[in-house]
Amino acid sequence: MIQRPKGTEDILPADVYKWQYIEKALAELAAVYGFNEMRFPVFEYTELFARSVGESSDIVGKEMYTFNDRGGRSITLRPEGTAGAVRAALQNGLTAGNFPLPQKIWYNITAYRYENVQKGRLREFHQFGAESFGSASPYADAELISFAAEIFGRFGLEQIALEINSIGCKECRKAYTAALREYFGKHIDTLCNTCKTRLEINPMRILDCKSPVCKEVAEGAPVILDFVCDDCREHFEKLKQILDSSGVKYTVNPRIVRGLDYYTKTVFEFIASGVGTQGTVLAGGRYDGLFEEIGGKPTPALGFAMGLERLLMAMGEQGKEIPASQGIEYYIGSGSAPDEKQKALEIVAALRGKGISVLSDVSDRSIKAQMKYADKTGVKFACIIGGNEIETGKIRLKDMTTGEEKIVDIKELV
Ligand code: ATP
Ligand code: MG
Repeated sequence: MIQRPKGTEDILPADVYKWQYIEKALAELAAVYGFNEMRFPVFEYTELFARSVGESSDIVGKEMYTFNDRGGRSITLRPEGTAGAVRAALQNGLTAGNFPLPQKIWYNITAYRYENVQKGRLREFHQFGAESFGSASPYADAELISFAAEIFGRFGLEQIALEINSIGCKECRKAYTAALREYFGKHIDTLCNTCKTRLEINPMRILDCKSPVCKEVAEGAPVILDFVCDDCREHFEKLKQILDSSGVKYTVNPRIVRGLDYYTKTVFEFIASGVGTQGTVLAGGRYDGLFEEIGGKPTPALGFAMGLERLLMAMGEQGKEIPASQGIEYYIGSGSAPDEKQKALEIVAALRGKGISVLSDVSDRSIKAQMKYADKTGVKFACIIGGNEIETGKIRLKDMTTGEEKIVDIKELV
């Protein structure tokens, strides 16, 4: 038997209600915050991700699903949503002046990364993301963070911590990068091999390394907040002030740098307790340089992405039940005679025409087997159409939870 590829999951009918529930709630909440849904391709030209996510990121370095299509173009399955969303906004002129700014969009996508598969770390996973294009104000940061915080409130997650930081702009990062190079240069022999290369390309990436040795060395590294310029500092101070006055709880973690190269100024993570090492459920930040990076006009912007598998994991760990979906209303069975089958078909069609959910016999089962089947499927009411029912126009409708039967006029039912 052919198995599904490692790191992918099947979402079975019995579980799909959980997904539908969170997807619906997220779409509703996004609308309340004035975000509109956007859809964009599962695959893009590889250079989009190479340029936006950045050559020194884990994603571009080792996680992308990249292949040449039959025309010889290098194609990559989207490893995240921001690059595609920004590309789509640019290509369709969303930020070119014909539409109000900021353009606030959300998406619910599958994403693909060649990961070391673990609990909460898959190769195909789902991300709900939101992006706000066109505002440089810390009020835009605060709005996005408040939206993110409200998601967890909406799902009743309490043990979730918001950590924020500023990683400054290109300018203030120059001095910081130099300081990091000097610091890590002294510890080069202790660093993992990947980080030895990171020291050259982008020493900030070392702060995000998951190897315990590098983590230990990183403990003593200089922190970015000591290096940010006046403009970035002011932005960060104002953001904290707005969050305070909005009642959004957070802590400043000067060690968050995020794994993607495009971030500037604000970065943040929501970390759930009880989910183990894969506790970061939602992460995001500002990326004021990204539009330019992929060929657009300078456009301040920011966004976040949330892993839906990790959200569901956190809800499970914290005992948050998702209400099960409504079951099927009726089972309308019949005897084997053609007129009995015909009558059942008519009733089924009439009920479905009214938008009522119905199951019927499509397997030529005996009456006993039909009732057994009806019971297994969990329908609320069941009946069998026989000669007697056709003659009298009345059916015996069985309430499958109580076992009670009542006589109902067929006309009444349909
Ligand atoms: P990590 O540090 O855990 O590798 P990341 O920094 O690579 O995360 P982002 O690129 O910021 O993650 O993605 C945003 C969110 O998407 C993460 O916080 C997480 O919830 C989810 N996510 C990322 N990678 C995976 C994956 N391989 N499997 C499941 N969820 C993921
Ligand atoms: Mg990662």
